[in-house]
Amino acid sequence: MATCGNPAPAFKFERLPTNAEPTHYDVRLSPCLNQFSFEGLSTVDVTIKEATDVLKVHAQSLLIQSVSLITNPGDAAKKLDTTYDDKLNILSIKLPSVLQPQKVQLVFKFIGELNDKMRGFYRSQYKDKDGSEKFLASTQFESTYARLAFPCFDEPIYKATFDVTLEVDSHLTALSNMNVISETPSTDGKRKVVKFATTPKMSSYLVAFAVGELEYISTKTNSGVEMRVYTVPGKKEQGQYSLDLSAKCIDWYNEWFDIPYPLPKCDLIAIPDFSMGAMENWGLVTYREIALLVDPGVTSTRQKSRVALVVAHELAHLWFGNLVTMKWWTDLWLKEGFASFMEYMFVGANCPEFKIWLHFLNDELASGMGLDGLRNSHPIEVEIDNPNELDEIYDSITYAKSNSVNRMLCYYLSEPVFQKGLRIYLKKFQYSNAVTQDLWSALSEASGQNVNELMSGWTQQMGFPVLNVTQRQDGNNRVLTVEQRRFISDGGEDPKNSLWQVPITVSVGSAPSDVKARFLLKEKQQEFVVEGVAPGEWVKLNSGTTGFYRVEYSDEMLTAMLPDIASRKMPVLDRFGLINDLSALLNTGRVSIAQFVQVAASSANEDEYVVWGAIDEGMSKLLACSREMSEETLKSAKQLIVKMFEKTGADLGFAEQSGEDSQKMMLRALVQARLARAGHQPTIDKFNQMFTDFLEKGTPIHPDIRLATFGVVARSTGKEGFDKLMNLRETTAFQEIERQAMIAMSQTPEQPLLAQLFEYGFEKNKVRPQDQLYLFLGTGSTHMGQQYAWQYFCEHIKEFLEKYGGANSSLFQRCLKFAGESFGNEKRAVEFQDFFCNCKDLTDTDRQTLARPIGQTVEAIRLNARLLEANRSIIENLLKQSNL
Ligand SMILES: [Zn+2]
Repeated sequence: MATCGNPAPAFKFERLPTNAEPTHYDVRLSPCLNQFSFEGLSTVDVTIKEATDVLKVHAQSLLIQSVSLITNPGDAAKKLDTTYDDKLNILSIKLPSVLQPQKVQLVFKFIGELNDKMRGFYRSQYKDKDGSEKFLASTQFESTYARLAFPCFDEPIYKATFDVTLEVDSHLTALSNMNVISETPSTDGKRKVVKFATTPKMSSYLVAFAVGELEYISTKTNSGVEMRVYTVPGKKEQGQYSLDLSAKCIDWYNEWFDIPYPLPKCDLIAIPDFSMGAMENWGLVTYREIALLVDPGVTSTRQKSRVALVVAHELAHLWFGNLVTMKWWTDLWLKEGFASFMEYMFVGANCPEFKIWLHFLNDELASGMGLDGLRNSHPIEVEIDNPNELDEIYDSITYAKSNSVNRMLCYYLSEPVFQKGLRIYLKKFQYSNAVTQDLWSALSEASGQNVNELMSGWTQQMGFPVLNVTQRQDGNNRVLTVEQRRFISDGGEDPKNSLWQVPITVSVGSAPSDVKARFLLKEKQQEFVVEGVAPGEWVKLNSGTTGFYRVEYSDEMLTAMLPDIASRKMPVLDRFGLINDLSALLNTGRVSIAQFVQVAASSANEDEYVVWGAIDEGMSKLLACSREMSEETLKSAKQLIVKMFEKTGADLGFAEQSGEDSQKMMLRALVQARLARAGHQPTIDKFNQMFTDFLEKGTPIHPDIRLATFGVVARSTGKEGFDKLMNLRETTAFQEIERQAMIAMSQTPEQPLLAQLFEYGFEKNKVRPQDQLYLFLGTGSTHMGQQYAWQYFCEHIKEFLEKYGGANSSLFQRCLKFAGESFGNEKRAVEFQDFFCNCKDLTDTDRQTLARPIGQTVEAIRLNARLLEANRSIIENLLKQSNL
């Protein structure tokens, strides 16, 4: 954690008292899209469980006009007095006397704002086909924002049924979780009143509404559920891909979980402004446009596969999260980790063209390890007290690590056993709440093993192990000595001496795709005997890279594997795992850049995109270090990279070849982009020519190489290229192209252009707040860009806080990280930390909320610095020896 000398005064957070609970809500809202406001009337059936004279509910940013009590149905409502705690967002309702346990009704009359902060009941803006500004209203209630729309018991444990009624202008579409049961004119005849069916029992964070000029396409699942994709006018055709996939997905999950989806319909709606990627509201799932809409000739393969994953993720939540909900946010991973795992299970089984399990390794496993290798990580089961910590927890630990740990467990128990356990869990806790222990018990029941003992180390401790392995031959057997310690990215000691139960799988050179042996490492150090291994045959741990751990081999063991990496006889999942481990070990100082370059060189024939991604990541570390050393060193490092990859680039070319798989074009883009970044002039010229041909002759650029092309244009053609990219961004109506043009422009090496871009995006608000963080993304590629982005962030922090809705906003926190994490020296680490300690626009509570993101960024900067120090002389020697 970052410390500022004086720790912030502790804020005592309180949950709602447990003396009462809601059973049913009748919520009537009347939103006005012209005035950005809504009127509300809600009646809540409350069961008082312990005698009390006060009831407490959540409410925030609502003007409460009256609160009344009905003790017997049919009786007149009694007006009640209230007090409000704006730190806890709790409205305390004073009852006329002490009430014994009984059922009562609370009636609330209130007015709220359709805000522009992408939370609660909020407005989203878009342009219609004539270019006029239009608005729709939609909701985002997770984690604690239902209280912005109506007073409620806004904690996941309080499940209730909901009747929703929306009064809207007659020409608008109104949607909610359930199907419409009646639509009648309003009393003044000017509007319409849309009433929806009663929901199942559910938590408040899953309630949703949407109101606007919407259009849709629809289909039915085999099981008879009506599926619709809604968009703003003119975009519904782009929903076809997701519509077909989502119908298939519901049927697939019905069978996999052995519990049918219980609602009659499920709408998926694309919202122009959306802070998260998507949200699993039961029956009305909301998405960013980019996460739901696909244009066949324009969407890149990568983006299309992401759409498939996000669609499947949200629909998995209909079981994991909606049907069975965590008791408290500490167990957020119970829904996120499993929805994340199930999205890959579905896409892996139904969309083989994406080779999604290969991408899993980089996007989930490596991403989870990246964050979890930091000292400022946190356990999967994370203590949540103050809800202001919540947004920060929606991170690579809760998603990527949880997901990877689930995959490890699934492989360990076998898929049928794992599935059986999940079915037990879902059936037992449906329409109710659960904790992690409940899941382990169900999996123990299914497997006959003590899953709690196996897994608690993975979810309750932060970090993960690295296994140090050495070997000796004993006749026809190989004896492995395996020692575990916590992997910390800076290579330092673990103060806690953590231990894990590590499921180890072993493969060998004579049958690289098979699991030769399985062991469970429980101690700090253990010996394992693998029988039937010839002398000289390589032995590799973590076959298929299914475990959430890294492996550090002796030189002898690593060298033995190199020929099979070069020939690709070793399976691709293993090649990735090995190279990714090496790249991560670079920062610990236990592997040198020279050793990494040697392995990268032996991968010259590599043909899989994801493995190249791991190689490329190591190479970018070489470039980043060289840039910090001197112009001369940077130049030599670039020459070395050109020398290494020139032939591969020439073999791949730029054009799509017939019959190649979906990964090839991505690989081409990756290798050519690396050559261009290394200053290979023919490659740069080719990219620029492609862009010119696209603009002047309409020659299409393949979507998978588009971002690489834009990037080269922005980095190499000054104002001319910048203006063309800006024009493209302004004229396209497609969010992926908008985003790519913006990321590319942020890589410009010219400060006046970067200043123009930031003014355009942030000050003139020409970039949607949800996407503004991408303006920071490319700035780390030059010293000028780093400096500019950081200074800009410091000077505008107040505006950022206001725009994104405070320090708890994940958008704000991601900007904070992007603005600093590419720095590479100690002076910057201190400067970064000091800024937040001294910043007058932050409160002490803000600093408390931001402690972990700040700590993580400072640690990332120090890791960059450490990498440089460990490799300075090694890089000098390497470049000298390379005869450039
Ligand atoms: Zn989720």
